[in-house]
Amino acid sequence: MSKTINENVIDEINVKELWENTLVDIELSISKANFSTWFKDTHIIKVENGIAYLSVQNEFVKDWLSNKYHKLILKILRDFIGSIRGVEYTIKKDIGKEVVAEEEHKIGVNINKELPLTDFYINKDDNLNPRYTFENFVVGPFNELAHAAAQAVVGKPGIVYNPLFIYGGTGHGKTHLIQSVGNQLKKRNPDTKVFYTTSEKFAIDYINAVRSNKVNTLFKEKYRKYDVLIIDDIQFLSNMEKTREELFHLFNALYDNNKQIIFSSDTHPNMIPNLEDRLKSRFSAGMIIDVPTPDHESRMAIIKSKSLQNKFIIDDEVVDYLALTIKGNIRELEGILNSIICQSQLKDKALTLNDVKALIKNNIKPKKSISVKDVIKQVADFYQIDESVIYKKTRVTEVVKPRQLIMYILREDFHVSYPTIGQKLGGRDHTTVIHSCEKIKKDLKVDSGLVKEVDQIRAMLS
Ligand code: ADP
Ligand code: MG
Repeated sequence: MSKTINENVIDEINVKELWENTLVDIELSISKANFSTWFKDTHIIKVENGIAYLSVQNEFVKDWLSNKYHKLILKILRDFIGSIRGVEYTIKKDIGKEVVAEEEHKIGVNINKELPLTDFYINKDDNLNPRYTFENFVVGPFNELAHAAAQAVVGKPGIVYNPLFIYGGTGHGKTHLIQSVGNQLKKRNPDTKVFYTTSEKFAIDYINAVRSNKVNTLFKEKYRKYDVLIIDDIQFLSNMEKTREELFHLFNALYDNNKQIIFSSDTHPNMIPNLEDRLKSRFSAGMIIDVPTPDHESRMAIIKSKSLQNKFIIDDEVVDYLALTIKGNIRELEGILNSIICQSQLKDKALTLNDVKALIKNNIKPKKSISVKDVIKQVADFYQIDESVIYKKTRVTEVVKPRQLIMYILREDFHVSYPTIGQKLGGRDHTTVIHSCEKIKKDLKVDSGLVKEVDQIRAMLS
């Protein structure tokens, strides 16, 4: 995105504009729920000596922003004003260190009661995604230990490995595995009270309870009734002291009652910063298992299994090439495979190795945060039109459709506001944007070709 703000004049109005522009880009980079939770009611107070002073509602938000989003905030601010060197977070009203109810309740940031998880079809009672099962989980040398432990937990929940602590890099299959345990246990006995959550959502739940003075009633009661509690990505609690304390007590309560607890993290508990010894030792009481980078054979097996699931015939040569090229992240492997399947369906023929190579070349770039420009570029590339015509006034069909699709994707997937979309696409009125999005929605209901195209564009953006 181009710099729109004059670096020399950072007066009050510009500060407001700077933050508004920054928020637009942040909104595109993170989930809607996180955006509305953490960035609501944030303001830049001033920019002085290269430091942007950001006002936030409370300590909790301050911690969260400075620990989780600092890099992103700084990067985007610097995109606009290169001379910004740092961000200081200040609390709007000094309400003390404690995250305490009453007053905060009045001025609080109105954290979403429910932080929606992204998939539609997850079960509301347990948050489990039925897609994650043992049946479609490929076991290979890299994950066989973790898989065996997970199976053992299914066999004797609360008894053998408690807690089960799975750690490993992004896309190694941790979420899939720990949710499979939940799904399997429910399948075996539908009365089992399973609950899956992420540590983020757990923290939000806690803070909401604190804010509404319902820790003892609502929060404790809720979490202590589960037979199986699964908390994903626990590393995010590394700067959430209060939440960790609550987790500690919850852990003890569940553990003492032989309830199964399952955690995942991106690192070994000993490597999670700030984690108290008492929590580390609780984790070590069970089983801590690493899911390392998948080995070549396993990557091949995963590609084959996913192709089969999609009833897609894939050449061994292509499988081998993919497994060689895309190392580590299974999510990425899935993304590329989806693109191949889509392309092949679109072209109505099998892709050659060269086609696949070309496709990968265009798609494997380090995925940073996606900007409006990325979406425009991807869609323009897909329809093989020049990116610049998207911004022009032209109404030829070849351009109108991609332009409408861009609007639709920006709105549906990235939750950009209608006026912002209009502004970013060459200064169009927001009613035009609304009309375009509605048009695509309507077309998608009747045009299966369009559905495939959108799927593929989405796969390429993911
Ligand atoms: P993590 O939680 O470690 O980041 P995920 O569990 O989200 O990784 O896995 C990323 C994607 O890869 C998911 O779509 C998941 O279904 C798939 N996946 C991961 N491991 C396997 C596996 N062993 N077999 C089949 N699919 C897998
Ligand atoms: Mg995960």
